[in-house]
Amino acid sequence: MTSFQLRGAVPAFIALMLAGSLAACGAAPEPEARAPKKPAAEQAAEAKAKQTEEAPAAEPVPEAPGAESPAPIDPDQAAPAAPDLVSPGFDRALHSIDDPMSIWVVGNKLRPLTPENFEPTDLVPTQGVANDNGQPLREATARAVEQFIAGASEAGHDVRIISAYRNYDLQVQLYNGYIVRDGQAAADTYSARPGHSEHQTGLTVDLDDYGTCYLAACFGETPAGQWLAANAADYGFIVRYPSGKEPVTGFTPEPWHFRYVGTELAGEMRATGVSTLEEFFGLPVAPGYAE
Ligand SMILES: [Zn+2]
Repeated sequence: MTSFQLRGAVPAFIALMLAGSLAACGAAPEPEARAPKKPAAEQAAEAKAKQTEEAPAAEPVPEAPGAESPAPIDPDQAAPAAPDLVSPGFDRALHSIDDPMSIWVVGNKLRPLTPENFEPTDLVPTQGVANDNGQPLREATARAVEQFIAGASEAGHDVRIISAYRNYDLQVQLYNGYIVRDGQAAADTYSARPGHSEHQTGLTVDLDDYGTCYLAACFGETPAGQWLAANAADYGFIVRYPSGKEPVTGFTPEPWHFRYVGTELAGEMRATGVSTLEEFFGLPVAPGYAE
């Protein structure tokens, strides 16, 4: 059953309440399909999440500007040099980051899509992969995610599409439902406001394996989550909301939420170690809405 189908049977807001408590980025999992809650599993998930919090040092740490600290520096403690943002020869202006039909478009809390009710023109169904809500994707993204999921399957990870393209009206329903449930301040940490969601570009997909870390931060530490993160660039995807980057992206880590940008940009970001679009394109950080 999809949210759309639910909407016909019960008031939309009740359907949204049923959509689950971990529906970050509005993934809206089906309640009957969620992994059964087991105390042991929850404890394991919490333990893994705690490990993640305690070991966040995977990101390269930029050198402090004008680092002339008089304090002695232990070489073992010194931060690695800041990565070059762009490799020689890479054209950062090859595609628009403003045009919502561009595969490099950047949407965040300070960069609404224009127009805010934007709809892509080349949405197609996915084929041959499990897609819970049957939501479409832009054609190149659909073909890429089919290969991505096939690659994961060959590596032994059975992942499926939890959520894909969501139009403006659906995002209105989801976001308003989260406000009713959690309040606006909390909702803003995990669900984009309508017109700000990259799911609305048709370039974004949520993938999960229905394990004990279903739509939870610890999914990134599971074998499936690790494989997806390590291999996303080969299929043109990035983890859009990486761990440790909430001050930049404005969203809590979502290791299941993949954004298609094409193999050229995804490969360049992996090669240079720049994990967010905001940093790669030198955009202002977007921890909150301008209001
Ligand atoms: Zn998402």
